[in-house]
Amino acid sequence: MPGFEEARRIVLERVSPMGCEVVPLLGAVGRVLAADQAAPWDMPQWDNSAMDGFAVRASDCADPNGLAVAGFLPAGQPAVEALANGTAIRIMTGAPLPPGADAVVPFEEAEERAGLVFARRRPVAGDHVRRRGGDIREGATALEAGAIIGAAEVSLLASLSRTSVPVVRRPRVAILSTGDELLEPGEPLAAGKIYNSNAQALAAAALRAGAIPVVLPIARDDRAALRTQLVEGLRADALVTTAGVSVGDRDLVREVLRDLAVEEVFWKVDIQPGRPTAFALSGITPVFSLPGNPVAALLTFEMFVRPALRRMMGHSRPLDVPVRARLGDAVMPRQDRVTLRRVRLERIGDQIVASSAGSQATGFLRTMVGADGVAIIPAGLDSVAAGSVVDVYTLREDCLIGGA
Ligand code: AMP
Ligand code: MG
Repeated sequence: MPGFEEARRIVLERVSPMGCEVVPLLGAVGRVLAADQAAPWDMPQWDNSAMDGFAVRASDCADPNGLAVAGFLPAGQPAVEALANGTAIRIMTGAPLPPGADAVVPFEEAEERAGLVFARRRPVAGDHVRRRGGDIREGATALEAGAIIGAAEVSLLASLSRTSVPVVRRPRVAILSTGDELLEPGEPLAAGKIYNSNAQALAAAALRAGAIPVVLPIARDDRAALRTQLVEGLRADALVTTAGVSVGDRDLVREVLRDLAVEEVFWKVDIQPGRPTAFALSGITPVFSLPGNPVAALLTFEMFVRPALRRMMGHSRPLDVPVRARLGDAVMPRQDRVTLRRVRLERIGDQIVASSAGSQATGFLRTMVGADGVAIIPAGLDSVAAGSVVDVYTLREDCLIGGA
């Protein structure tokens, strides 16, 4: 039985990035660039002014008689006329520097009297000039493959006139809930039945991870039904099932997967909750069989499926970076397992404190609702004191924003 970290490592070793597709620029936000993007021209394309002011030849500014203002250059027009000796040209930010000029005297540093300009401080060549190619050289890589597209990357690509961009594909993740007790939300309640919350929950988690969830109809606990649905699920880029992976009389998922020649990589991970998690491969398609318990299903999705999906989407660092936090209360974990503890996070002074989000009973969904993250309590300890530092994987992007 692999330990927590080992199981995550094994999963990441066995999945690989998907192919690429070209999408509109804004559709690429949050996704991973699939190919280097070269600059088709120098950036900026020409020497231009960094300030509103006067384009000058720096050496001319030594003249105590000032420089005659000989023209006006707004942004958006080419500089045709060269700067004559002993003159200055009014120039706006972004306007191309006229030939012959080598510096800009900002309005703030200039005095204008009777059509003459005097620099209060003598400029040196290059002052307030944005050099052609100073940002990026023509032909150089403007954005590397692997970049995660955010506002800055969109800005750069738009400045290169790009309207679409190649990114790594988003995996379609089939989500299959199994169990005779399940009803779909909206169906009339019946004795002994519960609503299928896992499918919607895991679809939401898949969306948060950036993947495309495909929710399949519930599979009942019999071999034929399960087989049909699993075959359907294996047509997706990844398959996630819930329930039927323990040692119950009707826990058939692993058995039917085996009949379908799906290679089981591991079954059971040294964690609590979520121990009966299984990971398998059908060719290159990863198959995650998660426990049915809704809390365990969500936690194991976040810890194993999410990193796999991120690797498939091309992220070079698919594992989330944990927050280092101090435990707000003492923990008495099971010594033989890594404990995934649902915690609330709070910024107190310069520290982040992780306190229990409520009862840690695996059946309690309310504790999951209140949780900002999952604290990883290592195996081998029979008690962990309040104040101890632990790693916490956050479950919400906004959980530490605005804290005092
Ligand atoms: P199992 O893994 O089949 O032993 O199921 C563990 C627990 O999770 C049982 O109480 C199930 O009723 C419950 N469960 C299984 N599947 C779902 C589901 N899709 N939505 C909500 N609860 C579920
Ligand atoms: Mg069951």
